[in-house]
Amino acid sequence: MRGLAAVPSYVVMQPTTLCNLDCAYCYLPFRAADRRMPVPVAEAVAAAVNPWAAAGRFSVVWHGGEPLAAGREHLAALIAPFGPEVEHHVQTNATLIDDAWCAFFVEHGVRVSVSVDGPRERNGDRVTRGGGPAYDRILRGVAALRRHGLPFSALAVVGRPEPGLATELYDYFLELGCDVLGVNIEETEGVNLRDNSHDAPLVTAFWAELVAAWRREPRIHLREVEWSLRYAGAVLDGSADDLLPRRLDPIPTVGHDGSVIVLSPELAGFTDVRYGDFASGNVLATPLAEILAHADRTPWVGEFLAGVEACRSSCPYFGFCGGGHAANRYFELGRFDGTQTAHCRNSKIHLLEGVLEHARDHQSPAA
Ligand code: SF4
Repeated sequence: MRGLAAVPSYVVMQPTTLCNLDCAYCYLPFRAADRRMPVPVAEAVAAAVNPWAAAGRFSVVWHGGEPLAAGREHLAALIAPFGPEVEHHVQTNATLIDDAWCAFFVEHGVRVSVSVDGPRERNGDRVTRGGGPAYDRILRGVAALRRHGLPFSALAVVGRPEPGLATELYDYFLELGCDVLGVNIEETEGVNLRDNSHDAPLVTAFWAELVAAWRREPRIHLREVEWSLRYAGAVLDGSADDLLPRRLDPIPTVGHDGSVIVLSPELAGFTDVRYGDFASGNVLATPLAEILAHADRTPWVGEFLAGVEACRSSCPYFGFCGGGHAANRYFELGRFDGTQTAHCRNSKIHLLEGVLEHARDHQSPAA
């Protein structure tokens, strides 16, 4: 795996910077401002995406801010330029979802992923702009999805891994009715400066416990655990070298103003004296395909690719991880060519160790 691929597998779009919540761990710098994406930005992105979608599976992920805060009419106008082959996903806090939004999701074929951190007492960081708890509003949105029979994914942020939490979360999400679950250990990035370092044994035990909970009742696709098991299986059958793509997926994020940031949506909206605004171009001035063809010339991207090579030559987990996430390097280390971060320890190294710990604890005596 070397360099950036010219064609991504999905594009992240920011229909508005606004979020109606004010979660304590949020990384977004302009979430109180409603900077909306004009339709010509979506038209420019669609001009590149429609041929890619005609050639193979392709998704647009409407992210935010809170994407539903852009309103149904505006979101429909942004979706309109995309062809029927394009799959649409929305990452939402669910608080605005009602019957009308459910009808919208059906009409536009939008697949929904809901951010919720587990039972009520685990959602203390999820608050409204007035500082009140958001949990009941989130659940009202989830209830609307269930009433309409709409499948949904869930994304949970874990602030502090501790014994018993993984089982509690997994049981909660079984009951909630999601069909896919992603679990993120909170990250220090963007405007969230909270420390994300944890004791290694606690984090490893958290992941091992999550695998055990999932194996008891594997009714939900558990994103991180399934990746890890696929990797562990590939190591055993000697095909692990084929798992990483030959080139890094650039995963372009198109900001509300048309600027394109590759690899890390979390960099959108930030500037740095060394790296400028991190953008590789703007779709209102340059076709997206052309921006991506030259994205590795963006100064910070070259530095990041050097960091990936440093990971390749120094880290035994590289075959699983592929070299980590650009934003975590920047916000934790202040540069892109460092290697290990607290994020990669929490979410790659100890994840794989947790899966292996579970496997060791449950191997048959004859094995
Ligand atoms: S686990 Fe960390 S140090 Fe290892 S390859 Fe991934 S990002 Fe690099």
